[in-house]
Amino acid sequence: MKRFAFAAALVLTCGDVQSAPDPFAQTRLEWNKPLKPFHVIGNIYYVGAAGVSAFLITTPQCHIVTDGALPESAPLIEANIKAQGFKLSDVKNLLNSHAHFDHSGSLARLKQVSGARLVASTADKPILKSGHISFGPAANADSIPVKVDQVVADGGTVSLGGVTLTANVTSGHTPGCTTWTMNFRDGNVTRKVMFFCSISVAGNPLIGNKHFPGIVQAYRTSFARLKTMQADIFLAPHGAQFRMEGKLAMVKPGAANPFIDTGELPRFIVKAEIDFDAELARQQASAPPKI
Ligand SMILES: [Zn+2]
Repeated sequence: MKRFAFAAALVLTCGDVQSAPDPFAQTRLEWNKPLKPFHVIGNIYYVGAAGVSAFLITTPQCHIVTDGALPESAPLIEANIKAQGFKLSDVKNLLNSHAHFDHSGSLARLKQVSGARLVASTADKPILKSGHISFGPAANADSIPVKVDQVVADGGTVSLGGVTLTANVTSGHTPGCTTWTMNFRDGNVTRKVMFFCSISVAGNPLIGNKHFPGIVQAYRTSFARLKTMQADIFLAPHGAQFRMEGKLAMVKPGAANPFIDTGELPRFIVKAEIDFDAELARQQASAPPKI
């Protein structure tokens, strides 16, 4: 795909080590800017960087972290957990939304430091294990390989310290893209929290993708499913996807928690599906004719 051809002619001299240029070099600098960690709601904290998320879910006994952001985000995540008054050594489970370098990058390091077990979907497990995805722009940006200790199927759960998270495999963005959901008691109300995976095309080849032949149907199935789901608190792998900055600016003592917004998920999905259809039409129009 020409649009994402990153090949560069490298002229080597003795002693040079050949390495491909990182197509995400500038983006990762932006994404990995520090952000003061903050309390989202209930037992959920944001401990990621400015542009790539990581969430800490605490329990009285031990904790869960979802997503590892970029490989270079590990020191930030560790410091953010500590700054919120928690110990990384108390993190017993690591979860992953999807096996792209900007969301799985620090999992190996976090696992090593905490001794936590990594839980991920069956379809993304080999990508996490190798650190490499075979298609899309992320194929040019490998992650740090990490061993998955436990695979989870669609509908499977992870329970720890009285908290249960359910895996909803919303395939498309990656084959095993996993949207994690949980409930928590907020006074007299039960709130539904969604740690959304992602559903953007993000440069994925939709036509003739030999690494993921059913990719279009996978997206369609996930759109249909996400339209049936509910979330009082919609959280996502990139802050911009859940309007983190705007909501943070609305946090005021005594005011309603801006992260509670039941309309966020349906608004997001409607827009994402329009974007998907436009990108599919664009790729269909530029695909070589079948002979
Ligand atoms: Zn991604």
